[in-house]
Amino acid sequence: MKLTNNLYFYPEQGIFDCNTYVIKGNPGIIIDPGATMFLPALIDSLHKDNIDPEGIDIIANTHLHGDHCAANEAFKQLSGAKIAIHPIQKKFYNQVVLEVARVFGLPPAEFKEDSCLDNDRLSAGDAEFELILSPGHSLDCVCFYCHEEKILICGDVIFEENTGRVDLPGGNADELKKSIEKLSQLEIEYLLPGHMDIVTGAEKVKHNFDFIKGNILKWL
Ligand SMILES: [Zn+2]
Ligand SMILES: [Zn+2]
Repeated sequence: MKLTNNLYFYPEQGIFDCNTYVIKGNPGIIIDPGATMFLPALIDSLHKDNIDPEGIDIIANTHLHGDHCAANEAFKQLSGAKIAIHPIQKKFYNQVVLEVARVFGLPPAEFKEDSCLDNDRLSAGDAEFELILSPGHSLDCVCFYCHEEKILICGDVIFEENTGRVDLPGGNADELKKSIEKLSQLEIEYLLPGHMDIVTGAEKVKHNFDFIKGNILKWL
């Protein structure tokens, strides 16, 4: 589903999958390919939007929980794209990928990154994204923010009327509160989470932050 000029949204397709975002252009980027079992359907959806997987150059992730990165390697194989993780994701790889998989009794996602992203920025399509460290749900959460188009791809930090859980290894409620406070200062028209619905329109996004601050954060 096309959201803006070159930004596309693919909703999660089932349990242990996540929302996927694609930014078309040069370089073309996919953020969070999700679960391997749903990859064929994701590829079909890309084709329907006239996106050739081979035109995607970089695979990036909001964090390395298995529901976001399990299909990294399979997507790399079929598209030729390179996996570029954030330095913080490399630093906490063992804690996040291995320990969280153990909690769920699942095999850890297996992939090898080709490179690391810059610490604080990413060119995608013809837009510039600021990379904002947002720990709390996980040690390695990174949000992708485009100021020009007022887009925030926020992974599992915030959802529509909820937040990411903080009870997995590396989770921390105080850190999550700080991350959400920081993100709530941004100008956002498109709030694009890792699960459930997206939130669009500055008023609705603001209302969503207010709702979370007033009703959710105090119980964490
Ligand atoms: Zn997660
Ligand atoms: Zn998730």
